[in-house]
Amino acid sequence: MDKDQLLQKILASSELPTLPTVASKLISLTAREDATLADIAALVSRDVSLSAKILKVSNSAFYSFPQQIGSIQQAVSILGMNAVRSLVLSFSFLNIRGTRGVSRFDFEKFWQRSLSSAVATRLILEQIKGIDAEEGFCTGLLQNLGELILARTFSKEYEQLLHQREEQPRDSREAEREVFGCDHTVIGAHVARSWGFPESLVAPLEHHHQPELYKGSSPTIRTTVRAVYLSDQLSSILFSDKPEAHHKIFQKDAARLLGLDAAAIETILEQLHLRVKEAGTYFNLKLQSPKSVQEILQEANIRLSLINLDYDQMNKQLIQAKINLENLTRALEEKNRILDNLANVDGLTGVYNHRYFQTALEQEISRANRNGSTISLLFIDIDFFKKFNDTYGHQAGDFVLSRFAATIRDNLRQYDVLARYGGEEFVVILPETTTEDALAVGEKLRTAVENTAFRDSREEYHVTASFGQAAGTPSTEDHFSKDNLISQADQALYSAKEQGRNRVVAYSPKKKWFSFS
Ligand code: GH3
Ligand code: MG
Ligand code: MG
Repeated sequence: MDKDQLLQKILASSELPTLPTVASKLISLTAREDATLADIAALVSRDVSLSAKILKVSNSAFYSFPQQIGSIQQAVSILGMNAVRSLVLSFSFLNIRGTRGVSRFDFEKFWQRSLSSAVATRLILEQIKGIDAEEGFCTGLLQNLGELILARTFSKEYEQLLHQREEQPRDSREAEREVFGCDHTVIGAHVARSWGFPESLVAPLEHHHQPELYKGSSPTIRTTVRAVYLSDQLSSILFSDKPEAHHKIFQKDAARLLGLDAAAIETILEQLHLRVKEAGTYFNLKLQSPKSVQEILQEANIRLSLINLDYDQMNKQLIQAKINLENLTRALEEKNRILDNLANVDGLTGVYNHRYFQTALEQEISRANRNGSTISLLFIDIDFFKKFNDTYGHQAGDFVLSRFAATIRDNLRQYDVLARYGGEEFVVILPETTTEDALAVGEKLRTAVENTAFRDSREEYHVTASFGQAAGTPSTEDHFSKDNLISQADQALYSAKEQGRNRVVAYSPKKKWFSFS
């Protein structure tokens, strides 16, 4: 089959997309020299749903006109004939999908990429003075019309071609020429011409891969051909797996082919993803939100630097990263431990605080309950401490408080819990300790305090303390409670004060206090 036969077969195919009536009439109308804006408006207005779509886009941020556009007549006179034709064609084509079941040719992706090229063409042309960028949109959108036509009219052969390209990636036009004798640029241009498309639309279809081959005399068409070629490079930055290569080509060719300066190129690259996203919503195409060119290039750069590492280097980096992570975790655990501790410790004396005492006592009671053991509490209160403060001052009081606590702690077993209950009052939890043993501990502590001289830089201080003791065996007592145990030890302490201080007193329910000393 030679080229002419192929083209005839395509034009005769039932799978060749047919243009909606309004679109094809509009093309012949706009080709006539005597067509007026009113004629065009009247034609487009006949298609109500198309008119609604056009009005919606006309009033959107896509154009951001200050005034509301209320009718197609207004749209035609404000946007211009070419812009309206471009919108009509764009909407007509964007609906075209495959007719047969699943195929490798992904129509959704095809239109997503085409829409991105459409936006890109318009964006590029906006940077050039004296060019109407509106028609560029449709031109960019339809640049690969030939591919769409091949995929529909020769679906089996095109399917094979795509399969081969999956196995062995290669240039699309080269593969097409091998199978069909010509590529999608020739086919797209031929079909568009047969539909009566103006040269300004056909030429870019024909030359968008090699813009230098456009030999026509129109500077506008030449510029559009080049912009469409560059739009494909921009879409490849967004959609291909070699964004950095297409970025380089774009920068070089935008300057070479269109004379764009660095600022214009920068504007295009910055705006691209935003404009594509915006267009997706106006043309009802679900585009996954494109990343910015800058972000895409950064990612590509990181990927590249990873590829360049050899296995050993990568291993070393991974090991180092793991070590760093472990060190961080350890430091964090240590910090947490210190924080936990700080929350449990009394600031002045360094022994546990009241809050911790309550939790610890609950735990010890549960343990005693399980073991069937007896637990004792010792309440300790410094005697006449108010007077001490009055005599020596608060600072000396603080000093003695902290040394007092240390003295008590030094005389306890490791698993006894000493806490500051409040003010100059302390409490000791004595696990697995009967009253008899607890009283002995109390007495030991009492004599230790009595015999200790607390010495600071100025003076030597002596204090005594009173002790109240209570014990319980949670597993055998019917009404054992934590609060009860605390209250009993407190009552015993009160009794020790009453009996003259500096003594250890055990709680007795019959109020017959037993004084140890
Ligand atoms: P008692 O023998 O009956 O216990 O007499 P007391 O004076 O020790 O008892 P009281 O409860 O009347 O007074 C306790 C004093 O302890 C009052 C307060 O100034 C002092 N105190 C409590 N906490 C601190 C502290 O953190 N630092 C200092 N310096 N003194 C404290
Ligand atoms: Mg006191
Ligand atoms: Mg007190």
